[in-house]
Amino acid sequence: MSNVPITVAYGDGIGPEIMKASLLILQEAGARLDIETIEIGEQVYLRGHKAGITDHAWDSLQRTKVFYKAPITTPQGGGYKSLNVTIRTAFGLYANVRPCASYYPAIDTRHPMMDIVIVRENEEDLYAGIEHRQTREVYQSIKLISRPGSERIVRYAFEFARKNARRKVTCFTKDNIMKLTDGTFHKVFNEIAEEYPEIKSEHWIIDIGTAKLADQPEQFDVVVVPNLYGDILSDVAAQLTGSVGLGVSSNIGEEMAMFEAIHGSAPDIAGRGIANPSGLLLAAVPMLIHIGQGEVAEVLHNAWLTTIEDGIHTGDIYQEGRSVQRVDTMDFAEAVIARLGRQPDRLRPVHYGHESPMDAHMLTTSITAEKALVGIDIFLDWTDANRDPQVLGKLLESSVNTDDLKLLSITNRGQSVYPGETHAAFFVDQWRCRFESADGEAVTHQQILELLQRFDMAGLDFIKTEHLYTFDGKPGYSAIAGE
Ligand code: NAD
Repeated sequence: MSNVPITVAYGDGIGPEIMKASLLILQEAGARLDIETIEIGEQVYLRGHKAGITDHAWDSLQRTKVFYKAPITTPQGGGYKSLNVTIRTAFGLYANVRPCASYYPAIDTRHPMMDIVIVRENEEDLYAGIEHRQTREVYQSIKLISRPGSERIVRYAFEFARKNARRKVTCFTKDNIMKLTDGTFHKVFNEIAEEYPEIKSEHWIIDIGTAKLADQPEQFDVVVVPNLYGDILSDVAAQLTGSVGLGVSSNIGEEMAMFEAIHGSAPDIAGRGIANPSGLLLAAVPMLIHIGQGEVAEVLHNAWLTTIEDGIHTGDIYQEGRSVQRVDTMDFAEAVIARLGRQPDRLRPVHYGHESPMDAHMLTTSITAEKALVGIDIFLDWTDANRDPQVLGKLLESSVNTDDLKLLSITNRGQSVYPGETHAAFFVDQWRCRFESADGEAVTHQQILELLQRFDMAGLDFIKTEHLYTFDGKPGYSAIAGE
């Protein structure tokens, strides 16, 4: 069988030491790889490449579409872009997959039965990085959730579960509050779950779900989450295994995939040859499966489990009484190589056999819905009249309302403050004024522009507008609290 081209980066800090050890084990395990080496990280940043990567390195990634990456050091100071975010965005790596399993009794943990895989949506949510300072007092960050994006990640999670004979997929959202964004993710989850009747599915609100996961992680199997929750949850889950330093992260896109350890470049121990290469080595397991060399992944993973079980531990996981021998990076690699072909006794051996790689091209449905413009939320920067909402409301009704668009309500930080009395005593300088068409009929851009012109004439400082649409007659915007 022919070799598969992959791109390798040795990274910074302990990166070169653990990459050397991992590649030696991969070679001895029989991985069929054509390695293209690229330079990324600190020195590349310091030479003036804002994302820590050169054009030559991009070419290699575009060619091989498989990236095995050691950790890098991002230089201190502003202006440097995260390399991971750059690669994720450029190649559309929409799925972040993080297995979080205990290795008890080889490594101590309060959760010996834990074996979770977190599938985190990687492109959307608050990570779109769309932020604004709108007034002197108020800042916003925009949370974007798309239906196709949700479909892709949820389907990936179910396909992953099916392929890996996992029993259950759990979804976490906060859709009791964010009914449209998280609500869409949850709805899509329910729809897709029906296509996988052999796999159990459940949904938890993220807060209580996280508490439950932290308390009884063995109750969870595959977990699928929007981006921000996934970021937090995957670190919580990794910590619970008792071996966060062994964590692995795969970033998967339709065309390209990147595999790495979750730890950083550990500058405090760099150059001493004592770092644990396990995280990076274990990152090669999903990579080998991804390139169709599941049988090599199986040999390598079982040899690693056997080494850990035999108590051969690097300093970071060494424990008096539990460990047998404290070793440095290359001795650990030699110990794994010596165990190639063996299976662990007490830890559960893995079986990846001759699995076909998972296809990351996920189907998404196209949406047709009748869209109608029915109003507008206009956000104001307003501090006049001691910030009295009654004054603002009356002003809008008397001099801004048009025949077509009328003020429905004003909110401050989401709370309704007009019409009606409010008991709130604290108002920020940003006000949302909702106007809807007088007769519930669709309005035109021209009518919206006329309304805005009246705001301008009234000397009001509008800082943002958000159109209100219905889709097949249903509102595509949140109701005013208390409405
Ligand atoms: P870190 O993970 O590098 O180190 C945290 C602690 O864990 C240190 O005490 C370190 O010695 C130890 N440690 C980490 N990996 C180890 C290993 N394999 N073996 C033994 N001990 C290990 O986190 P940090 O100190 O916050 O970050 C250091 C640098 O790494 C920063 O520049 C950060 O930006 C970068 N970083 C890079 C990545 C990446 O490239 N994916 C991820 C996280 C952090």
